[in-house]
Amino acid sequence: MKYLDEFRDGPLARGLAARIRQEVEPNRRYALMEFCGGHTHAICRYGIEDLLPASVRLIHGPGCPVCVLPSGRLRAAIDLVERERVILCSYGDLLRVPAAQGDTLLAAKARGADVRMVYSVDDALEIARANPGRPVVFLAIGFETTTPPTAVAILQARREGLGNFSVYCNHVLTPPALRALLAEPPPSLSAPPSPPQGEGSGVRDRQTVDGFIGPAHVSTVIGSDPYQFVAAENHRPLVIAGFEPLDVLQAILMLIRQINAGDARVENEYTRAVHPRGNPKAQRLMAEVFAIRPRFEWRGLGELPDSALAIRPEFAEWDAERRFAIPEIHAPDHKACACAEVLRGLMRPQDCKVFATACTPDHPLGSCMVSAEGACAAHYHYGRFRGGE
Ligand code: SF4
Repeated sequence: MKYLDEFRDGPLARGLAARIRQEVEPNRRYALMEFCGGHTHAICRYGIEDLLPASVRLIHGPGCPVCVLPSGRLRAAIDLVERERVILCSYGDLLRVPAAQGDTLLAAKARGADVRMVYSVDDALEIARANPGRPVVFLAIGFETTTPPTAVAILQARREGLGNFSVYCNHVLTPPALRALLAEPPPSLSAPPSPPQGEGSGVRDRQTVDGFIGPAHVSTVIGSDPYQFVAAENHRPLVIAGFEPLDVLQAILMLIRQINAGDARVENEYTRAVHPRGNPKAQRLMAEVFAIRPRFEWRGLGELPDSALAIRPEFAEWDAERRFAIPEIHAPDHKACACAEVLRGLMRPQDCKVFATACTPDHPLGSCMVSAEGACAAHYHYGRFRGGE
């Protein structure tokens, strides 16, 4: 298939891996964070870490939309569907994410709540048309990739006068999360770029993130320009990459070349889909329907300023938060869960003490074990934890 097969070519992948091995400097280590859960999934699925030299370490970032929705907002969604007798629609993964005390939307459905799995916001609109006497709420999550379709759905609901449809908006923004990670860094991000290391240095120690693999789908919407601060203000290179294995390997090679040269630039490996200024039409739709929230809680990252979207007051009729006075709830995660550390790149999934024992995809204790883009689920499904490395 065009744009897939040629980016999964085994001999080309081995050639890129050989080039990476040739170009890493012998006494240096490289810590590269992939922000996006789609890259985490690709890295685990295609065994990309196995192709890399030991001095190149990949650190998983917080870019899994299901993973970063905090327990409190899930708790609020469960309370809403049980209290107001609405039809609550969302994606299948989200129905299985544990909220406080391990409750889930799926458990609420088993208790009799009308929770429905949908593949897109269009399905939720269709359910609203088919049930004019029932309020239908779409639980919207995701980064900039899934935000334009939600905007289109709200505009469509207004056009049709679909008064029983509304959206519980939990859309979040990528650049503010990156900025917050770099501005108030966890220990792994706090130091300047790694100096050359002596022979025998452990590559599993906490260390500086030397460069970022930038999001693929998000960047098709926002472009590459919004990441310039990563290079200009924080002196870290960022390479936007597609989700196929050759994309990821090529991006790693581009990052290593920048790091070796002491450069910090934003580069775009995913030129077949990403324009520097992104998709202006999608951006206009987002700006028409949504405004920046002054603060928003992320699972694992805490409250981040200007990092999420709210529905504008002129669309209040389709804003479930206003319509049902949904409260802001802060709820703790399971006490054994280390998702916060995993999402901030401070811990590998297999180092969580309940990984693959008490916490599995069938019985997830944390959000990172639910979605295919979650680091714990990706490591579990592709067996990357076996053998201890
Ligand atoms: S293994 Fe489970 S509990 Fe541990 S960090 Fe991953 S999702 Fe959270």
